[in-house]
Amino acid sequence: SAVVILITVLGITAIVALVTTAVLQNKPLLQKYKYGIVLDAGSSHTAVYIYEWPAEKENDTGRVHQKHICKVLGPGISSYSHSPELAGESLRTCMKQAERFVPIRRHRETPLYLGATAGMRLLSMENQNVCDQVLGSVEKVLRSTPFSYQGARIISGQEEGAFGWITINYLDDRLKQGSGTTGALDLGGASTQITFATNQEGMGESAENTVTFRLYGNDYILYTHSFLCYGKDQALKKTLAQQAQVGNSSVLDPCFNEGYSVDRNYSSVYSSPCIMAGKPLETGYSFTHIGKGDASQCQQAIRRIFTNPGCNFSRCSFNGVYQPPIQGPFGAFSAFYFVMNFLNLTSDSLEGTREKMERYCSTPWHQIKQQHPGVKEKYLAEYCFSGNYILSLLTDGYKFTSETWSTITFIKKISGSDAGWTLGYMLNLTNMIPAEAPDSPPLPHA
Ligand code: AMP
Repeated sequence: SAVVILITVLGITAIVALVTTAVLQNKPLLQKYKYGIVLDAGSSHTAVYIYEWPAEKENDTGRVHQKHICKVLGPGISSYSHSPELAGESLRTCMKQAERFVPIRRHRETPLYLGATAGMRLLSMENQNVCDQVLGSVEKVLRSTPFSYQGARIISGQEEGAFGWITINYLDDRLKQGSGTTGALDLGGASTQITFATNQEGMGESAENTVTFRLYGNDYILYTHSFLCYGKDQALKKTLAQQAQVGNSSVLDPCFNEGYSVDRNYSSVYSSPCIMAGKPLETGYSFTHIGKGDASQCQQAIRRIFTNPGCNFSRCSFNGVYQPPIQGPFGAFSAFYFVMNFLNLTSDSLEGTREKMERYCSTPWHQIKQQHPGVKEKYLAEYCFSGNYILSLLTDGYKFTSETWSTITFIKKISGSDAGWTLGYMLNLTNMIPAEAPDSPPLPHA
């Protein structure tokens, strides 16, 4: 019996030691987390997001957070059309990193998704066969990881908009409350999305712009539209193509700073299904792209890429696309944030934004380079265009005014997780947002 007493004492001591360690480290006992991985295969880059949440209470809003992001080196997967097998290879380093961030015992149960956006939508329009090869190549590498591979696909513009909206409202903890929600403005390289909750009236006008959800017992009717070819890289090509005339040896561009001068091939401007008219029949023509640095002329040039073919609905944004009256507040993320944050324009009025853009664009190129030695030259050269494009897209395109401008917040992260479609996509596919509110907790005993 002395032995039994000794074992019992040792056992109790061990438990006390475990509890003390856990309390001192401020960790719950028997910590159990689950994980999910989503690859955002964008037009200019791919990013691997690792999400983590407590194994119990999966339905609890706000519980899933971003544990890690790995940015894949090199361009987006749609740029591998000449060597599709390298698209998959480019993902290996980040996937190895993911193996370290997810505990080994969770690897096999961790779902892994890849969603490709507008860069791949464009490639599928150009060459379906090559597009399939690129998707096959990333699939091969993702299948070889220890995770539970769930598929690689091109998501629709509607999904991209709607899941971006879910992400920001989930992270803001707005879905459970059923109170006001935040609209989502997303700017990528090849497309841009606008999504907001709206009153039912008028939404019957355009079914393709309507998404309905029931989340935590609340019904939502969302307006969403994705403008393919109106991401900032494609919009830049459109603006440049419209100013360039094949045969001219130079283009004087108000959207680039004075003193900027780069030789370009016409084919680099026209090499996109987004540029319809004016493609040169022969390749090999080149021109000198020269900066003129004039914000208001730049906006005039940008306005011409928004067409007005007439509106067959009660109201439209641009290109004849239906848009009900905008209902804020809005969160603007991805390139909306990168550009406005660089230009120090995240909390200015519309008039203040216009003034700062005039000043930025009229600064000579050599001065801009001196002032920002650490910034990638390609981004730096494009900020005058990008800032003006954002101004024009939001005002001429979506019809934001001086009054409604202040309802837009430029955001990168919410509570440590990036704003973007990936989290909403995973929450949806793992059924982590229930349609009905979980049972209310029992009343406490009196
Ligand atoms: P996507 O690859 O389609 O998601 O698009 C991302 C867009 O953001 C591209 O137009 C990139 O060029 C742009 N971008 C990423 N980082 C920055 C940055 N630091 N400054 C300006 N633009 C950026």
